[in-house]
Amino acid sequence: MTKTNFKDYKLSDEILKSLDMLNYKNPTPVQEKVIPVALENRDILVKSQTGSGKTATFAIPLCEMVDWEENKPQALILTPTRELAIQVKEDVFNVGRFKRIKVAALYGKSSFSHQEKELKQKTHIVVGTPGRTIDHIKEGTFVTDKVKYLIIDEADEMLSLGFVEQIEEIMKGLPNERVTMLFSATLPEDIDALAKKYMKNPTKIEIEAKTLTVDRIEQVCYRVEEKNKLNLLRDVTIVENPDSCVIFCNTQAKVEALYAELSKRQYPCDKIHGGMEQDDRIRVMNNFKKGCFRYLIATDVAARGIDIDNISLVVNYDVPVLRENYVHRIGRTGRAGKSGKAVTFVMSTDERRISEINSYTGKELEFSKKPRRSVVIELTPAFQSKLGEKVEIKETKGAALSEEILKLHINAGKKTKMRAVDVVGTLCSIEGMTKDDIGVISIHDVSTFVEILNNKGNMVLKALQTKNIKGRPRSVTVVDEERLQQGRPRR
Ligand code: AMP
Repeated sequence: MTKTNFKDYKLSDEILKSLDMLNYKNPTPVQEKVIPVALENRDILVKSQTGSGKTATFAIPLCEMVDWEENKPQALILTPTRELAIQVKEDVFNVGRFKRIKVAALYGKSSFSHQEKELKQKTHIVVGTPGRTIDHIKEGTFVTDKVKYLIIDEADEMLSLGFVEQIEEIMKGLPNERVTMLFSATLPEDIDALAKKYMKNPTKIEIEAKTLTVDRIEQVCYRVEEKNKLNLLRDVTIVENPDSCVIFCNTQAKVEALYAELSKRQYPCDKIHGGMEQDDRIRVMNNFKKGCFRYLIATDVAARGIDIDNISLVVNYDVPVLRENYVHRIGRTGRAGKSGKAVTFVMSTDERRISEINSYTGKELEFSKKPRRSVVIELTPAFQSKLGEKVEIKETKGAALSEEILKLHINAGKKTKMRAVDVVGTLCSIEGMTKDDIGVISIHDVSTFVEILNNKGNMVLKALQTKNIKGRPRSVTVVDEERLQQGRPRR
């Protein structure tokens, strides 16, 4: 049987080019089933696990279908957490990069006015958490009258976090003539009810995972009481000596305490929980993705959907309160066909939670003997030597795309009446440049950002040092993408 190819969907060359550069060779099963239906503008209810290529499943048709000429947002993607909103924004941006699709992310604990300014620009697709999205709709900063597509991602998580009323409020504020796609790992009754009320005869697509917990993930439980957990963690990390590991605790206080202990013991580690400032949470996740440290101590904010390659070990320092979170936590490892291991610390008071997890996953968790003293002693030198090793910084997923693209900052903006046509005019007057080499342009009060595609960035940067833009020489510099990603404004 011949494999389906993205070319079979008659996607535009710009989208195919992005998929090629992202190394998406063939559609995943969920993409294969959903993309053709989505391209026909039909409502869809999709049951699929995270890690199945779900984000691209809606990103591809959205980027294909939005009208580039329209300045107001045409699609809204709702996600349950801020981390996921940021990740989905990046994924959609990568898919739409060569079509110059502009994506804005709206989430709390981050500057409202910064988001407002972004929305004032041409914005094709908005990704948001429900609360902040409603705030922008109420303030009139997010104009919804052109929204034709609504995507509800991780719908079951949204409902279990109590977002149902907010979602309904958002839906009521959107045009009736729209396409709604709902993605969920499970389809409980309340999701069906939501679908019946707000979706038009949705096509139901279910991608069944054989078992809820991926077979590739080796799962081990140890019996341990609270006071001995830290010693057991030390032994487990010595024996496993992982390159990349997430340790989940149930509370913010516990994350803080464990972080302090592991830092004291020289573990290359950092922490993430909902009590931290959003900028810090973004910085920590980015650094973990890049491999700047090896141990991430986290609450369940990092359990859902977050896509990091090569996590080889997940430790449940505490058994999760919600059985679903067991599956989400361990699903951080064993991604993209790789193997992984999940270790769970079980106290005598956790028995009920374990049997709930067993009945949820349909598999009995097995208990193991703790690592033997002699083995721990034997492996300690290798562990110690790795603790001292310099970390290797990994490339981010969009790196191949970014290599081709250089983002420039021009020291002039709306206040000096800079318009996109001024920028395009100047750029096209540079020898060897055409309109097709120009990516996303965004104009702020005193700054303009422009992406130069096809490896022509450095040539353009050089040319702009002496060329006038809108009648005057301007300071043109390369953008520090990291600073922007972390949500910090340029100084
Ligand atoms: P998601 O379910 O959206 O979290 O995606 C899981 C992982 O699969 C991400 O790392 C994606 O970049 C990757 N991915 C998505 N679609 C494809 C594809 N067609 N081929 C290869 N990798 C993909």
